[in-house]
Amino acid sequence: MHLKKISFSLFIGLLLFLFLKWDKALPLPDKSSCAFCKQSVLDSQKFYEDDLVIALFNYKPALKGHSLIIPKRHVESFDELTNDEALRITQIIKKVHKASRTLFNAKSYLLYQKNGSEVGQTVPHVHVHYVPRKESERSLSSLLFKIATMSFQKQISSSQMKELTQKMESLVND
Ligand SMILES: [Zn+2]
Repeated sequence: MHLKKISFSLFIGLLLFLFLKWDKALPLPDKSSCAFCKQSVLDSQKFYEDDLVIALFNYKPALKGHSLIIPKRHVESFDELTNDEALRITQIIKKVHKASRTLFNAKSYLLYQKNGSEVGQTVPHVHVHYVPRKESERSLSSLLFKIATMSFQKQISSSQMKELTQKMESLVND
């Protein structure tokens, strides 16, 4: 039994070592393959748009209601935003949270935003993640696990996405 535990720990240690050794940030793709400049992505996931900013749902959400607030202009890094764009993004985050309180029963929310592949940015277009959480969702490790494994999460079906974007659109523009 003791030997089994040691072997298991060594096995997990080896997996972790291999994962850390090969888990390297890839260079950011260029604008031509930017998902947030693709009309098909915006058409299916967008629930808000004005002259500067767009808000859309993540198609593989860490939690239900996981949204992305992006500048309309293709800008790779937050420091390249104009002051007007940065301010508008902030204003829209507040609107998104207000709507999410109603639609997703959101109590708490997490905001995060990455600049550069070295910190894990994968889409070369500024995007602020808004992740809402209900009062009943209290496990912090579960939240971190869901965010870390987001790309393996189940994709929202197109019918579910349509229903969510329509409901959110009317709440955000209220
Ligand atoms: Zn873009």
